[in-house]
Amino acid sequence: MNVQKEQVIIIGSGAAGLTAAIYAARANLNPLVIEGIQPGGQLTITTDVENYPGYADVVQGPWMMEQMRLQAIKVGARIISDIVTKVNFKKDIKKITLDSKKVFESKTIIITTGAQAKWLGLESENQFNGKGVSACATCDGFFYRNKQVAVIGGGNTAVEEALYLSNICSKVTLVHRRDELRSEKILQERLFARDNIEVIWNSVVSEIKGDENGVNALELNSTNSTAQKLIKLDGVFIAIGHVPSTKPFKNAIDMDDEGYIIAKKPGTCFTNIEGVFAAGDCVDKIYRQAVTAAGMGCMAALDAEKWLQH
Ligand code: NDP
Repeated sequence: MNVQKEQVIIIGSGAAGLTAAIYAARANLNPLVIEGIQPGGQLTITTDVENYPGYADVVQGPWMMEQMRLQAIKVGARIISDIVTKVNFKKDIKKITLDSKKVFESKTIIITTGAQAKWLGLESENQFNGKGVSACATCDGFFYRNKQVAVIGGGNTAVEEALYLSNICSKVTLVHRRDELRSEKILQERLFARDNIEVIWNSVVSEIKGDENGVNALELNSTNSTAQKLIKLDGVFIAIGHVPSTKPFKNAIDMDDEGYIIAKKPGTCFTNIEGVFAAGDCVDKIYRQAVTAAGMGCMAALDAEKWLQH
């Protein structure tokens, strides 16, 4: 079998992967990026980006990722479209198998496979994605200044997003499927203290309504009666959790219960496997921003470079 030998393989091509590629290429490490199932990562499914430093004007997520990709290629990274299906990290030289059945060996691997927001699975949610439906308040909240929005979920993310949005929006409705929040008590206290946040308990979204201008209402079904409710609003933030895209690495590397890869030394991108580094949303469940992912991608490339030197 023809096995291609590499020095640095980067798995994933979101902000973390492409930044790692830029740094590794500029360190003369000739990195190979395996682009994965969603080239460009989560930013390719957002529209306006206003919080990535360096752009005074709003830029489009897909455009920004295309620029990052071109930048990585310009400085010498190679990018292939394929998906990792199997890894073997047991020996010094790491082995990965792709969907195309190609096999690669590499001294170092940088995992930047990201995470996916969980969605409710409604057709109307898909229809209005980017037109009133979002999974990131920090990214999109600003577009709802002085408007009415809802946040769906009852965990830390939902409560933090509701708090964040209540500073921007005129009213925030938190919709939760049970009668008790899962989030930390301190966050709950802050939530209940806000005048412009209302919590609707025991309810699930049955439909997101809107027109050519985007979302304009939310239809809710009670979970303990047949009652239905319609609330008028301008935007809906789905905050029912994220899933890290780390399936191929299960049993090969240390992960937490939710599948997030664990940094061996906090503040670095080292994992429990020598020569394997991880960065971005597949590690980070707290910040989940393009700029933090890019920062971690840079750290992973620098860690890999140093590790290769020693
Ligand atoms: P969680 O899994 O903690 O919470 C998800 C919430 O969404 C739950 O309340 C759940 O309801 C609800 N939910 C799930 N699926 C559905 C559905 N289909 N319809 C309606 N509601 C649904 O996810 P988070 O993103 O909030 O947090 C993930 C992890 O990250 C946690 O460990 C959290 O502590 C951590 N985190 C920490 C932060 C911090 O420390 N500052 C900030 C953000 C996250 P139910 O409760 O009924 O299951």
